[in-house]
Amino acid sequence: ADGLAQVDPELFAVIEAENRRQEEHIELIASENYVSYAVMQAQGSQLTNKYAEGYPGKRYYGGCEHVDVIERLAIERLKKLFGAEAANVQPHSGSQANQAVLMAFAKPGDTIMGMSLAEGGHLTHGMPLNLSGKWFNVVAYGLDEREEIDYDRMERLAHEHKPKIIVAGASAYSLRIDWERFAKVARDVGAIFWVDMAHYAGLIAAGFYPNPVPHADVVTSTTHKTLRGPRGGVILMKAEHEKAINSAIFPGLQGGPLVHVIAAKAVAFKEAMSPEFKRYQEQVVLNAQVMARVLGEERGLRIVSGRTESHLFLVDLRPKGVTGKDAEAALGRAHITVNKNAIPNDPEKPMVTSGIRIGTPAMTTRGFSELEAERVAHLIADVLEAPNDETVLARVREQVADLCRRFPVYEP
Ligand code: PLP
Repeated sequence: ADGLAQVDPELFAVIEAENRRQEEHIELIASENYVSYAVMQAQGSQLTNKYAEGYPGKRYYGGCEHVDVIERLAIERLKKLFGAEAANVQPHSGSQANQAVLMAFAKPGDTIMGMSLAEGGHLTHGMPLNLSGKWFNVVAYGLDEREEIDYDRMERLAHEHKPKIIVAGASAYSLRIDWERFAKVARDVGAIFWVDMAHYAGLIAAGFYPNPVPHADVVTSTTHKTLRGPRGGVILMKAEHEKAINSAIFPGLQGGPLVHVIAAKAVAFKEAMSPEFKRYQEQVVLNAQVMARVLGEERGLRIVSGRTESHLFLVDLRPKGVTGKDAEAALGRAHITVNKNAIPNDPEKPMVTSGIRIGTPAMTTRGFSELEAERVAHLIADVLEAPNDETVLARVREQVADLCRRFPVYEP
């Protein structure tokens, strides 16, 4: 049987180039990670051939006896990992998991409350151009003057607007979120309390970030960020919501589930129960703290919210007079991958920004610990101080190459 190199050499070459990029660049995008061979093997299996509309034991297609076992395994492992009463492992992505919550608990025109995108929230929590912002009346909460979630204002807004759903969770917030406080506000105003833990899921599974599951009606997540599984989504919930959520996913939003991805999710959940995964997540947080300290205290940048209690943090670049867009480009030329990110009250446009977001999950998977984290932070600062100096960029690129060679992601 011919492999990809024979069938489609053009595509094969591009994938090879991407593989090299992943090995040879330091990956600091907070939402990315490197999965295990086992996860890739499950995702690349013959399961991709199978239709399985419905749920285990209640399918609309024959031949589902094995995929039923796979989906049940994924569900049981996920419930155990986070202590949940019920789970759905079919969402094709984090966004579709989130749409299912909106579909299950609100109607177009209803009021929902979420964290403003500009202050750390996600698109799907009510951004005007997203379905969540177009179909619902959105009340947004955000940060206070210390750049911490303004819980008092969130509470006042909830009492004033009586949203059907309150969502907590973020894509660019470095601190711990007080789930209990949100849960109490939701109870007081009769709202469904939804947590989107996409960014923090791996830390939560390992016990290094508070678990929202005991406090929330429903918890959504992606599986590909800190959790280190395949690209996809999941939903955890109280048993009373299982019917509404399951029917929102199928037949509400999706057709056939991606069984090969569900199998890969099951593998990732098993890996996430291991002592090695706990050590990994602890190192993720340590590395983020080292980098925030070096950049904030030694190299004169400003860390948004002043510190990190998770796998990520935002850097305010204004002390160095460089924009997020230029920083992303200069770091890219030095083979360090980050994303530009708006900081609170950012004076620049969203495509420019005054900040970058830095996350440690991927670099920690390849084996970086505090020593390397410190070195990477200094390399970043070197670039930010001289973003147009080709000599500096070349020197940093060489040091990046050295680090990457010493810590390969996948065996050659
Ligand atoms: N929720 C949060 C908090 C996220 O940060 C993201 C992705 O960045 C998503 C949901 C969406 O996930 P996906 O890209 O799989 O649709």
